[in-house]
Amino acid sequence: MEGTLDEENLVFETTKGIKPIKSFDDMGMNDKVLRGVYDYGYKKPSEIQQRALVPILKGRDVIAQAQSGTGKTSMIAISVCQIVNISSRKVQVLVLSPSRELASQTEKTIQAIGAHTNIQAHACIGGKSIGEDIKKLERGVHAVSGTPGRVYDMIKRGSLQTKAVKLLVLDESDEMLSKGLKDQIYDVYRALPHDIQVCLISATLPQEILEMTEKFMTDPVRILVKPDELTLEGIKQYYVDVDKEEWKFDTLCDLYGRLTINQAIIFCNTRQKVKDSCS
Ligand code: AMP
Repeated sequence: MEGTLDEENLVFETTKGIKPIKSFDDMGMNDKVLRGVYDYGYKKPSEIQQRALVPILKGRDVIAQAQSGTGKTSMIAISVCQIVNISSRKVQVLVLSPSRELASQTEKTIQAIGAHTNIQAHACIGGKSIGEDIKKLERGVHAVSGTPGRVYDMIKRGSLQTKAVKLLVLDESDEMLSKGLKDQIYDVYRALPHDIQVCLISATLPQEILEMTEKFMTDPVRILVKPDELTLEGIKQYYVDVDKEEWKFDTLCDLYGRLTINQAIIFCNTRQKVKDSCS
């Protein structure tokens, strides 16, 4: 381990000796999960998956410094499918995310990758009926993916039983903190068993995150995906040739209307264009 001292005198270590595992076949996954991964269309693990999946599957606490676009959602889904014991209908994994969209995307990815395992995942998010949440949780699910406020609400009501939870995933942790969700995250954490495994994913590691890692985690493995390793081979790039300058905006709106786009950066070369595209 190599130690570095941050501004606030907190020692933060970068784990040495994490070897990338280049094939899903060599990660010790069960056959049903492995089949789910290949059926989902993945051929080989992304950089973060190569480094973080095995430590997570071995039960280590893991800090993965990774942004969206690195394959982190599937990394979470694969871990959840592998870690859950299907024969028990108790909640065994809790994934907290900063937004309803991300929580719901994670739930869908768990269901898709776990298609051969009969895993039951549930998205516990605001904007959906509380009654439905309660019913689904009472019927029994293996994994819950949700936003911290709604998840804590379900715990307080006694509908989400936490005794059997063995893995807590904090996705986009820096986003959750910048949205003011710190207290809810701590509330949820306090309601979980003490020996819980924690996996924290964050694009940045500000002081508040380091404090959280100190409080929640034991001897965590830290994995940083460097910027030049961020892009996935699987991501395709397209070029749209627009004849006239004034058609560009309508073309962009058209693409937005037809495609599912979670996040986008729009480059403009004048201030007026920035205003137009934001309006
Ligand atoms: P994420 O960072 O989870 O938002 O993933 C970004 C994109 O990469 C999504 O479209 C995933 O389906 C895709 N992806 C994730 N893992 C892999 C992989 N191992 N091979 C190819 N594509 C992947």
